[in-house]
Amino acid sequence: MREGIHPAYYQAKVTCNCGNEFVTGSTKEDIHVEVCSKCHSFYTGQQKAASARGRIDKFNRKYGVKAAE
Ligand SMILES: [Zn+2]
Repeated sequence: MREGIHPAYYQAKVTCNCGNEFVTGSTKEDIHVEVCSKCHSFYTGQQKAASARGRIDKFNRKYGVKAAE
């Protein structure tokens, strides 16, 4: 094995757009991500809730159901 062919391995500080910070092993010292595991599940949860609401609205319109009455 030759030495010097592998990049240095850091304990990288990862900063996410949501404000979450965590440490991971990486060849970079600082990483910035738009989505981390913490906010990604939150984000997809929001997406699912939004599409479910859309389906209910569509159903209500189709069958003339008015939710507010
Ligand atoms: Zn995040």
